[in-house]
Amino acid sequence: MHIEIAAAPVPEFIAGPAARPMLIDGAWTDAQSGETFETTNPATGTALASVASGGAPDVDRAVAAARRAFEDGAWTDLNPHERTMVLLRIADAIDAHAEELATLESLDGGIPITVTRGMVADAAKTFRYYAGWPTKMTGTVNPVDASVHCYTVREPVGVCAGIIPWNGPITMAAWKIAPALACGNTVILKPAEQTPLTALRLAEIITQTGLPRGVLNVVTGFGHTAGAAIAAHPGVDKVSFTGSTATGKAILQASQGNLKRVTLELGGKSPHIIMPDADIPAAARAAAAGFAMLTGQVCVAGTRILVHEAVHDEFAEELAKALAQFQVGDPFAEDTLLGPVVSAAQFERVKSYLAIGRSEGADVAIGGGEYDGPGYFVQPTVFTGVDNSMRLAREEIFGPVAALITFRDVDEAVRIANDTDYGLAAAVATSNVSTAHSLARRLRAGVVWVNTYSELDLTFPFGGFKQSGIGRELGENSLDNFTELKSVFIRL
Ligand code: ADP
Repeated sequence: MHIEIAAAPVPEFIAGPAARPMLIDGAWTDAQSGETFETTNPATGTALASVASGGAPDVDRAVAAARRAFEDGAWTDLNPHERTMVLLRIADAIDAHAEELATLESLDGGIPITVTRGMVADAAKTFRYYAGWPTKMTGTVNPVDASVHCYTVREPVGVCAGIIPWNGPITMAAWKIAPALACGNTVILKPAEQTPLTALRLAEIITQTGLPRGVLNVVTGFGHTAGAAIAAHPGVDKVSFTGSTATGKAILQASQGNLKRVTLELGGKSPHIIMPDADIPAAARAAAAGFAMLTGQVCVAGTRILVHEAVHDEFAEELAKALAQFQVGDPFAEDTLLGPVVSAAQFERVKSYLAIGRSEGADVAIGGGEYDGPGYFVQPTVFTGVDNSMRLAREEIFGPVAALITFRDVDEAVRIANDTDYGLAAAVATSNVSTAHSLARRLRAGVVWVNTYSELDLTFPFGGFKQSGIGRELGENSLDNFTELKSVFIRL
């Protein structure tokens, strides 16, 4: 199979021959080593732009800048109303540059333009949501002995680093930057080496909104260089990480030197339970989107579809029909729903799991075909005859590959669903209200969807049980992540 890729637009930001520098202390700067690396367009496999390859000395500079900016108080002690206004200006600036940011995101990550437009709009929404908080973060006055006055205040944590992955880079950048700034922190963002462009352009846009110098820094580079230096740095007070469970564990370990505050949003192998009383065509559509959207490169992807044996065949047929509607193609075509996976490495990884599934004895029921290059396109694929002990059912693939597993009764469904190291998301398709509530209670996951999949809202906590992470992001929860709570006792 072959996919035609039309000439894509080239934003001015990457039109020049020079490598894109990093943002440190309000200045655009090369890596101290002078090194750069290339980022690739996964739809064509060709180089897109080169960016500075930051390392430990650059992280040192960024930390020093963020510390100075934190301590001089220009941001932290700014009147909360003023902080709100800056965050609102950032949101407006994102909207004003929406098409350019969406274009950069689609070029760099291969995500369809119709999807990245929504992501950019959501990034603006994230800044707007957190813009509301600076004036509303109150403390308490506590009922203690009459001879003392006791109250609590929320204070910023200090220098906060965000280390983010390549799936939904602008979404992740907004989730890390907006609440950290709202709480009065200074920030160092390290985008993934596969997709550094929108973080850099976003930072450029943000610097034009009146944020004081050094409050936001962006260090581009690799995980084992820039990322590891951030995680181990004694001058970083907090790391907020989104990415793989293996890297999350490395970051947690590296951050122990100064007991950084660490929040981790990690992987998943989320179950989607299809009960026999479900609206089967609707459940199949939700399940298809649940595992295949963003070409399966979603931490909450519903990659274990647990289907009651009585409706297995009907469901599989409906699932095939739903997936047939998913147009794989050029990220810049308006009717494309699924673009390529992000990189050559990810392409090989996904293909290796197709081979693993076959070698484990599972059957390819839907998809499984290959596209010829040069882009990294994968056909959404569903395996049947899968046992939950197979690697196909246990390991996060991060591609559009799902395992269909049958169950006989609800207890067996719950047992299989919870039999995983992960606990990020789970879903149930049923028309029975009490089954819905009962399963919502029994499933060990940070979010449970009923008769829907992937729905999130900025006001809700997001994060995982078990090895899917530590802590919750979004909503009021991010305020806990980005503030320290202080108790003050005054003897009267
Ligand atoms: P993937 O393996 O799919 O690239 P990762 O979880 O490793 O996903 O990457 C997510 C982010 O973590 C990226 O920004 C990456 O550079 C960074 N990273 C990778 N390894 C480390 C590490 N040891 N320490 C800190 N950051 C890292």
